Amino acid sequence: MPTFTHRIYNFNAGPAMLPTEVMEEAKSEFLNFKGTGMSVMEMSHREKHFQTILDESIADLRELLNIPSRYAVVYFPGGATLQFSAIPFNYLSSGESADFALTGVWAKKAFEEAKKFYPNVKSIFNGADSKYMELPTITDASVNDGAKYVYITSNNTIYGTRYKTFPKLKKAPLIADMTSELLSRKLNIEDFSVLFAGAQKNIGPSGLTLVIYDKDNLPQLSHPIPNLMNFSLMEKNGSLYNTPPTYSIYIAGLVFKYLKRKGGLAVMEETNERKAKKLYEAIDSSSLFYAPVPEAFRSAMNVVFRSHNDSLDPKFLKLAEEQGFAGLKGYRDVGGFRASIYNAMPEEGVDALISFIKEFERTNG
Ligand code: PMP
Repeated sequence: MPTFTHRIYNFNAGPAMLPTEVMEEAKSEFLNFKGTGMSVMEMSHREKHFQTILDESIADLRELLNIPSRYAVVYFPGGATLQFSAIPFNYLSSGESADFALTGVWAKKAFEEAKKFYPNVKSIFNGADSKYMELPTITDASVNDGAKYVYITSNNTIYGTRYKTFPKLKKAPLIADMTSELLSRKLNIEDFSVLFAGAQKNIGPSGLTLVIYDKDNLPQLSHPIPNLMNFSLMEKNGSLYNTPPTYSIYIAGLVFKYLKRKGGLAVMEETNERKAKKLYEAIDSSSLFYAPVPEAFRSAMNVVFRSHNDSLDPKFLKLAEEQGFAGLKGYRDVGGFRASIYNAMPEEGVDALISFIKEFERTNG
């Protein structure tokens, strides 16, 4: 592994690059937060400084996403994976069912977890048929009678696919895992009953998860729900039922303020689309590399590409690492390459990667 004296272009899928500006801000108040004489990490979660951090972070997020007041915004521990269990517990009673679109590893994990407790849940789409390169068009006709919700993974981190538009359903509410794209594009929150995201891509440190849900659509169920998965308990306690990941919430708050300063999600979306478009164009026009995902389903966050000559893959990765392009190796079961270009990846990082790809092709193609 090469060593660097500067920050490099980090294309990891998550934990991923955070904005340098945010890291500098955190650094400047690391030992002494706003004259308190202590780090946020050392502060009581019941104390007013932390309460202000928490309240401001939620207010800023509401503003960024234009979240209607009937939606709760709650921080959970346990990563996005905890929600694979929490959602069925909060939305299904014994014997009930829900529909899952199996568009990748994370959707399958969510489905398998729900199935353990609610064996009637159903798959309405099996992405294995297209090696997970395609996504379904979900309409009311796709929804099984009695389904309490339809579950999707909005951006499939591993395969590099995303829904360009979201299903609009009357028959069942939509629940979305938005871990790898929340805050990267504009959204209409009212298209969803629940959306959630693990923080480690566009929000902050891993282990923290944001859940946004429509309170009017949360069923009153009679079975017990484990406390740390209980939506209404966590909401009533203002994300402070137990000691939350305080420092991670602080960093998330700094990220939200940074996004507001940059002009909000419309600006993020425009920049992200431009970054992704130029990277896909460079790959599409290459004779050595290609992008396997059909254009209609291509993610703007995780750009998956492969080489026509995979014997060159180790060389490409080694050179990339030496030159300060980290995290380009594809997911272990998928192979090839993946450049994760979340909000924090500057456009210059994408430009530099494109030049690197072109130069590699020129000397090895
Ligand atoms: N869903 C998606 C879309 C993901 O990309 C990931 C992790 N990369 C997860 C869920 C799981 O997240 P966690 O490790 O925080 O549980």
